[in-house]
Amino acid sequence: MSGTFSRNTPVGAIDPLGLITWPSRYFEITGPFGEQRGREVHTGTDIRNPRGEPMFATESGTVISVSHSTRGGNQIVIQNDDGSISGSAHTAPAPGTAAGVRVREGQTIGVSDGSGTTGAGTPVRPHLHQTYRLCRNCPKTDLYEQFRKEQQRERRQLDMERQRLGERKS
Ligand SMILES: [Zn+2]
Repeated sequence: MSGTFSRNTPVGAIDPLGLITWPSRYFEITGPFGEQRGREVHTGTDIRNPRGEPMFATESGTVISVSHSTRGGNQIVIQNDDGSISGSAHTAPAPGTAAGVRVREGQTIGVSDGSGTTGAGTPVRPHLHQTYRLCRNCPKTDLYEQFRKEQQRERRQLDMERQRLGERKS
């Protein structure tokens, strides 16, 4: 689960079928969803995202809120067009990112700013805490798991397409 996307990787290139776009140029998960942290369970996916790194919209949708809390620091929540909800914490909103604004998949919506604190109350090390819900009232779920499922589905679709085209040729 480590490594980076090339700086030359066009945003959205990893998601040709319009599923989830990975929110960072970094792919390294520094804190998985569901991880037990003392008495708390981690309900987001922590992704390596140094200060100043852009944060991308995982899907096209509408910004629901741009807010600040002690724990999450600067936070952006987006209602995606498929009804799912994406949230990014420790992320300063990019100019123009405000409630009610439409965003398109892969667009830079913010910048990693290291705002917010850990459970112990110390400042976080800059990273992206990304949350994901399948619907507005759904519990938070594992973005990485969802991303992987979609990639597998995509691969299956491509395999089927390859087979279909191959059969037609012979
Ligand atoms: Zn986190």
